[in-house]
Amino acid sequence: MAADYYEILGVARDASPDDVKRAYRNLARQYHPDANPGDPDAAEHFKEINNANDVLSDPAKRRHYDQFGDARAGAAGFGDFGGISDLFATFFGGGFGGGAARRGPARGADVLAEIALTLEDAAEGVEREVEVTTLGACPECNGSGAAPGTFPTRCSDCGGTGEIRNVRRTMLGNVMTASTCPRCGGAGQEIATPCPHCSGRGRVEVTDTLTVQVPPGVDDGAQLRVSGRGEAGVRGGRSGDLYVAIRVLPHEVFRRAGSDLGCEVSVPMTVAALGGTITIPTLDGPLEVEVTPGTQSGEVKRLRGRGMPHLGGRGRGELVALLKVETPTDLDPEQVELLQQFAKLRDEQAGSKGLFDRIKEAFQ
Ligand SMILES: [Zn+2]
Ligand SMILES: [Zn+2]
Repeated sequence: MAADYYEILGVARDASPDDVKRAYRNLARQYHPDANPGDPDAAEHFKEINNANDVLSDPAKRRHYDQFGDARAGAAGFGDFGGISDLFATFFGGGFGGGAARRGPARGADVLAEIALTLEDAAEGVEREVEVTTLGACPECNGSGAAPGTFPTRCSDCGGTGEIRNVRRTMLGNVMTASTCPRCGGAGQEIATPCPHCSGRGRVEVTDTLTVQVPPGVDDGAQLRVSGRGEAGVRGGRSGDLYVAIRVLPHEVFRRAGSDLGCEVSVPMTVAALGGTITIPTLDGPLEVEVTPGTQSGEVKRLRGRGMPHLGGRGRGELVALLKVETPTDLDPEQVELLQQFAKLRDEQAGSKGLFDRIKEAFQ
């Protein structure tokens, strides 16, 4: 579906998060299935509204969408509509658990996998294979749970809806409650002859290898959602999603803060005093940078565009190099003599009258 999410919500491309939220709430109320019973067009539109909101209300997904278009078309699509229950949670503060949201076969659980990347991989973006062991549809019965050659039948208690509705008369009118059908566990089906391979459960353990596209600039703790690659649903239910948690390993040179990188660079004492060239490590290789005469420890050099790529955006952050002036520790006799001469010229000899007087003055 190549729908334009901005068009669906009727907001401008530069709409603020509040504008998106307001537009979404108005439309969702208008097209909610409960407000339009039996209208398939409204239900379809309601789904589109949710898809659009799911992307535009999340800054990372929105950036990704602005850049690449429909996120769900990508290999590691940032996900799609998370189920009607998501919306109920938004509207009713999560208290609306039962009823319509649970109708039908149960959805498969989400599955979490983890991949560890070096900082270099995170900067460039990589393709990674992830091995996931999960519950997949049974190959013998195609997930139905019924022995090959037989078919599940509609549940006699709930008539296939998977839920039992009760209407109570109260002073305030009729109150309807719905609960999962105990006979079929919400699947809406009964199985006379269970499939021997999966014992009628419809699912068996499978190990899957799939390729995940990690976008450049991804940070430690990010999660990529791969729609529909979690556990298979129960007897025809929707599959869960696979979440791939990203771990970015510590780097021996660079530390990271968002899109910026930091590192320490030592500057020889003489270069700091006289000025000259130092070498700063970057993700793209070492870089020669000039320092001015009289450079002090603690000064920083900011290198624009040498940090991490902005996730789902353009350009890169900066690299901040903290300069540390290095005091030599391995002087030979000749060097000691030269430095003593230098100190004498500067009137900086340890215990010399000049220096001592200056310290005394500072405390008076
Ligand atoms: Zn039932
Ligand atoms: Zn089976």
